[in-house]
Amino acid sequence: MKLRCPICGKTYEKPVQRCECDEPVEFEAFRSEPYIGKNVWERFYDFWPVKPALEFSLGEGDTPLVKSRLGREFGIKLYLKNETVNPTWSFKDRGTFLAMSYALKAGYKAVGTVSTGNMAASVAAYASRFGLKAKIFVSESASEEKLKAVGVYGGDVIRVRGDYGRLYFESLKLGEKLGVHFINSDNPFRIEGYKGIAFEIAEEVSPDYVLIPTSSGGLFRGIAKGFTELHESGLIDDLPTLIAVQAEGCSPICRAFKEGKAKIERFENPKTIAKAIANPYPPSGNAVLKLLREFGWGCVSVSDEEIKEGQRKLAGEGLFVQPASATGIAALEKLDLPEGAKVVSILTGSGLKTLKNTPAGKIRECPLEELENCLR
Ligand SMILES: *Cc1c(COP(=O)(O)O)cnc(C)c1O
Ligand SMILES: [Zn+2]
Repeated sequence: MKLRCPICGKTYEKPVQRCECDEPVEFEAFRSEPYIGKNVWERFYDFWPVKPALEFSLGEGDTPLVKSRLGREFGIKLYLKNETVNPTWSFKDRGTFLAMSYALKAGYKAVGTVSTGNMAASVAAYASRFGLKAKIFVSESASEEKLKAVGVYGGDVIRVRGDYGRLYFESLKLGEKLGVHFINSDNPFRIEGYKGIAFEIAEEVSPDYVLIPTSSGGLFRGIAKGFTELHESGLIDDLPTLIAVQAEGCSPICRAFKEGKAKIERFENPKTIAKAIANPYPPSGNAVLKLLREFGWGCVSVSDEEIKEGQRKLAGEGLFVQPASATGIAALEKLDLPEGAKVVSILTGSGLKTLKNTPAGKIRECPLEELENCLR
């Protein structure tokens, strides 16, 4: 197993979490061909850095690609990759499952993560499933609603007072010392797990564009690596154009991209309803920037109002997503894509996780005696 830093190029033979230069590391590209199999882990067996522990799978991945009416208004063919149907209702499960397969094989007794939302729930759930201890660091500001969705799986949930940004690096350091495998947002195994999204899309369509809600940058890097490996393996003819989508109120990657900066800078006072993509100093930000420039890809930011409108439009098609997951649809207004383009938007997580911020639909009152009138 060989890991490489996408920024400085240094390679590592042992499974480190980050490069000495402070940037993330990633597995060298896999090249192979698919097999026949009933799930994504089997069909793309040679593309994973560790054998997936299928006996502990909860059925993550193999999500529906839904053809959407919403493309018509823009003259495009729009597909929605519905990641809300994963076992803990977000795509995080794909990465969690693969990273935990590694942790188990490597003999770890405990795993951990730093998260306030979807990733915390995912790691807690899979730790229970794998029979490992879970150490979940959450920020002081994590809401009761969120903590319940994490605590229910029985993990050790630890609320940390202090600078949340430093927690990412502290957790990796302490994890190494104490034998806890931290599966944070851009853990190299986690990113490999996200490649499955690209593999499954390519099995059904050859998209021209893929819209990816982006926070830490882990998901973006995973999907990019998936398509690149398919391309290098000769399994697809063209790479799609990947678009990172951020919330205007927290868009450190788009800002650095537009300003032509080589490195991202901390986004001060982040404010958006899309909490799942509100990382002000994304640990994979520089790696994503480099990909955007290298491949001529793009970055678009959208306002909270546009996000809410996107959320409403998707609900109008029967898909209830959280604000972060509606950013791709919101971005369509700004992108001006060519007529007939095939576009995939990644619906990253379920709206049931963020009920508090959901605009209520209309509800009519009706006494039983008036039922006939009400029905007319
Ligand atoms: C984690 C998450 C994202 C962003 O993924 P990153 O890997 O942090 O860029 C987007 N949407 C939802 C719902 C998420 O949970
Ligand atoms: Zn490096």
